[in-house]
Amino acid sequence: MTDWQKLEKNYFMPTIKRMPVTLVKGKGVQVWDDKGREYLDFTAGWGVNSLGHCHPVLVKALTEQAKTLIQTSNQFYTIPQIQLAGLLIENSCFDKVFFCNSGAEANEGAVKLARRYGKLHLNGAYKVVTALNSFHGRTLAMTAATGQRKFHEPYLPIPDGFINVEYNNIGAIKKGTSSQTCAVMLEPVQGEGGVNIPDDSYLKAVRAWCDRKGILLILDEVQTGIGRIGTLFGYEQFNVEPDIITLAKGLGGGIPIGAFLAKEKAAVFALGEHGSTFGGNPLACAVGYATLQFVIENDIPDKVKRNGAYLLSQLNKLKSKYDFIVEVRGRGLLAAIQFNSDLTQDIVKSCMERGLLLNPVKPNAIRFMPPLTVAKKDIDAAIGILDKVLAKA
Ligand SMILES: *Cc1c(COP(=O)(O)O)cnc(C)c1O
Repeated sequence: MTDWQKLEKNYFMPTIKRMPVTLVKGKGVQVWDDKGREYLDFTAGWGVNSLGHCHPVLVKALTEQAKTLIQTSNQFYTIPQIQLAGLLIENSCFDKVFFCNSGAEANEGAVKLARRYGKLHLNGAYKVVTALNSFHGRTLAMTAATGQRKFHEPYLPIPDGFINVEYNNIGAIKKGTSSQTCAVMLEPVQGEGGVNIPDDSYLKAVRAWCDRKGILLILDEVQTGIGRIGTLFGYEQFNVEPDIITLAKGLGGGIPIGAFLAKEKAAVFALGEHGSTFGGNPLACAVGYATLQFVIENDIPDKVKRNGAYLLSQLNKLKSKYDFIVEVRGRGLLAAIQFNSDLTQDIVKSCMERGLLLNPVKPNAIRFMPPLTVAKKDIDAAIGILDKVLAKA
């Protein structure tokens, strides 16, 4: 049998500590490794496989489009991208869209758009206020936007134009704003930062501040968008309408696609000011369209709300049973448990050995983000495995 993990060591730059599992197949919430072992996947490709693995709707859209038209460049009109754009615009508060291929690219585009806005309407203001503990992607500029020192240090000097301030603190946003600020960019719930949920009043206060200063509010919904936290878009839950939103992860159901959407007043790109070779290609857009249509038609966000509440209640039961769990946080199907010490690696490894895949988001916190289509019985099975592992921790 081929030792894929040994080959990987020979060929790859070691940028990530992988778990010792080689996945070869997936169906719904289940995945299988090359030895035929089955796992419950509560990582969902980092919140990407919204409909679960290889959902028939997704496979059908993918194979049909693959037989029809895969890539043309944006020199031409293609139908799937216009259909997906329509679905996004008709179901959100936004007026215009731009398609790209990833979350980092969507955020780059959003920041470029905000800088254009600053040039045109704010005397050349270009700085963007972002939050500590945030995550906005891995390009150089998004590394600077990301408010975590460990992402900056290997690459100093990082690009200018980002100010990282405390999350969930409106005073910090105000202090970080100057006449050079063109936008504030935040995640409605911080995902990679450990599933941090702000106070209900926070985004509303940020919105009011942006309005007062005439600057733009960008919400990075790369992780929270497309039903993940129990509404189609996260902003709906916080009673705010951002000027710009970014999407990626769940939008393609597993196929790489990113997008940013803007209100008319913020959609200031003119001809030639932004572009992409692959962005908006028919294949990704056809799959994105099928995914989004499925999510909307089956009211998946409402199921996420109910199953998310159930997951949270079960995690809270574990918290009352094990005193080393100090906090349970979650919104919809984005949740985390935090320990009083760095137990994550051991617990995630033991869960894997018992057939449950989890995401070690922090040395002392585990993140749960199953497919949006996860069933109550899958949650019960996952909690059962976790309970057994915690009992031995
Ligand atoms: C994952 C993520 C990104 C980066 O997305 P990529 O597709 O990996 O570039 C950006 N912002 C948030 C909130 C994310 O969760």
